[in-house]
Amino acid sequence: QRRPLIAGNWKMNGLAKSAGNELLELVKLVRDHKAPNCDILICPPATLVREMAKLAEDNAVDIGGQDCHAAENGAHTGDISAEMLKDAGAGYCIVGHSERRADHGETNAAVKAKAEAALRANMIAVVCVGETLDEREADKTLDVISDQVKNSLPEGATAANTVIAYEPVWAIGTGKTPTPLDVAVVHAHIRSELGSLMNDSDQVRLLYGGSVKGSNAEELMAVENVDGALVGGASLKAADFWPIVATS
Ligand code: 13P
Repeated sequence: QRRPLIAGNWKMNGLAKSAGNELLELVKLVRDHKAPNCDILICPPATLVREMAKLAEDNAVDIGGQDCHAAENGAHTGDISAEMLKDAGAGYCIVGHSERRADHGETNAAVKAKAEAALRANMIAVVCVGETLDEREADKTLDVISDQVKNSLPEGATAANTVIAYEPVWAIGTGKTPTPLDVAVVHAHIRSELGSLMNDSDQVRLLYGGSVKGSNAEELMAVENVDGALVGGASLKAADFWPIVATS
C-alpha cells in the first residue's frame, strides 16, 4: 500500500512573513484534522527552507528544496547543494522540474546527478518528468517519458528515497489537465518502465502535477497509479492547498 504524498511547490514565491503565516495555517489544519492519510510536503524557495522547517518542527508538514547542485560544495556561485538544504531542514528535494529543464537547460544527465546528490544528502528525490504540448501532439508522450525516467532516475533509487512526478508541461499553470484516462496511461507506463530499473517499483510513489486544484483533485487522485500530487499555484495558500490534501 503506497502512502500518498501531497506536495506543494511554491516556486519563486514567498517572503518570510506571509509564507510563515500560510505554513502555520497549514500545520494547524493538519493538526486539527488529525494526521490525514498522506504525507504532506511544502517546497518553499531556498531562502525560506530553514524558517519553514522550524515552523513545521513536529513534522506535520515536511519541507523540501526545489532544486540542488550536484556537487557537495565548491566554486559554484549562487548554487545550493543538497547537503545545505538538508542542513537547513529539508527532507525532500525536487529535481528536474520542467521550469529548470527549460529555463536552465537541465538535461536528463544533469537531473540524474542532482537526484543522486539528494540521495547522498539523505533526502528523498522528487524527480519530475513530462512532455511538452508539441511532443504530445506528435504522439511522442510515452517515448519522452521513457527517456526521462530511464535517464533521470538516480543510481540506487528505491521506493523509500525516490518519488516520480509526472507533470505535463502544457498543464502547468494553464488550468488545463489531461483526462483521467491520459494520466492513467502515462502513470501505468512509468510504473512499467520502473519495473526494469528498480526492485521495489510497485512501491514507488507517482505524483501527478499540473493545474491540480481543490475542484479536480479528487478525480485526479482517484486514477490508478496516482499516489499524490505536486501542486504549484494552489499550494501557496493553505486554504487552497488543504482541500487537495483532504482528498487523501
Ligand atoms: P500548477 O499547479 O501551478 O499548474 O504548477 C504545477 C507545478 O509545476 C508543480 O511543480
